[in-house]
Amino acid sequence: MIKTEIKCRTLSELKDELQNMGEKPFRAQQIFGWLHQGVQSFDEMTNISKQLRAKLAERYLLTAPKILRKQVSRVDGTVKYLWELYDGNCIESVFMRYHHGNSACVSSQVGCRMGCKFCASGIGGLVRCLSAGEILDQVLFMQKDTGERISNIVLMGTGEPLDNYDNVLRFIRLVGAEEGLHIGQRHISLSTSGLAEQIDRLAQEKLQITLSISLHAPDNASRSAIMPVNRSFPIERLIQSCQNYFDMTGRRISYEYTMIDGVSDRPWQAKKLAELLRGRPAHVNLIPLNHVTESGLHSSSKEQVAAFQNILEKNGVTATVRRTLGPDIDASCGQLRRRHIGETFGKE
Ligand code: SAH
Ligand code: SF4
Repeated sequence: MIKTEIKCRTLSELKDELQNMGEKPFRAQQIFGWLHQGVQSFDEMTNISKQLRAKLAERYLLTAPKILRKQVSRVDGTVKYLWELYDGNCIESVFMRYHHGNSACVSSQVGCRMGCKFCASGIGGLVRCLSAGEILDQVLFMQKDTGERISNIVLMGTGEPLDNYDNVLRFIRLVGAEEGLHIGQRHISLSTSGLAEQIDRLAQEKLQITLSISLHAPDNASRSAIMPVNRSFPIERLIQSCQNYFDMTGRRISYEYTMIDGVSDRPWQAKKLAELLRGRPAHVNLIPLNHVTESGLHSSSKEQVAAFQNILEKNGVTATVRRTLGPDIDASCGQLRRRHIGETFGKE
């Protein structure tokens, strides 16, 4: 029998399945509670009988990623994790401390197939999608390791969340469960490279999550040069989907804009970006590029970033410069995994 992952089950699905196994439905609640506390084996479920634990172990896979590496920033306490999954693949997550609470940055796929030029996650292509349970595991096991509560989640680690649509949506529902972590949709951000069709689909779900768009350039020529996805869904189409998302959900869109020297940081691009977003419910995050050796791209200087921000604000668009967390550890997601693959297989 192929085992299914138990942590992907919602409470009501688990209730049905236990009932079919001849068990009382209240057991589902107990088991669900244990799973969402991050137990590593069924034997930790001490209020469940040995017989039922054995039945569960026979039928279900209980995922529990192992910490392969952990880097703690001495500057701000940011913790970066490299996990090993049950099949030997590895993924990254980041634990961040902010004054309003702790945030988890989680991966949605092993690798990514979108191929953005500046990103370490896309270098080896897509290996596989993560299950809803594996996305949840990152939050559960970071809480367990740090002993601190996580109150916010950003889907900004490795992977394109909308290229793993069903599992990501299931994750959002699981993490919001009252009997589990109970992290509400308003505390979750999903970042996408701009799969417009999937954004339209997401709008129909009418979730209260924040949608972040990785824009990175305001014109099709510059954007297509660094983000292949722009050839399928050009900027006009993307912005139309964003407007639709706002109309359907009332949630303001956040635009991520990486400052790349000579590629995205020119004054005319700031003006063009302002023209594109002026009058729309939008907020721009300017992000200095994290250096990825393979890309050959470099970050803009502090002065260039400030000048760009100035032009945006003068033209009626609010923009903030993203504070880089954990500057002394491998900052952006994808880099720790690349390094690990390089060391293990001698590729770098
Ligand atoms: N695939 C999704 C979410 C994961 S990437 C997306 O692209 O939005 C999370 C964010 O990190 C995106 O905004 C992405 O553009 C940004 N990013 C990737 N590589 C980066 C780098 N080297 N420096 C700065 N930001 C980077
Ligand atoms: Fe994938 Fe996002 Fe990296 Fe692009 S920036 S390659 S979509 S993870």
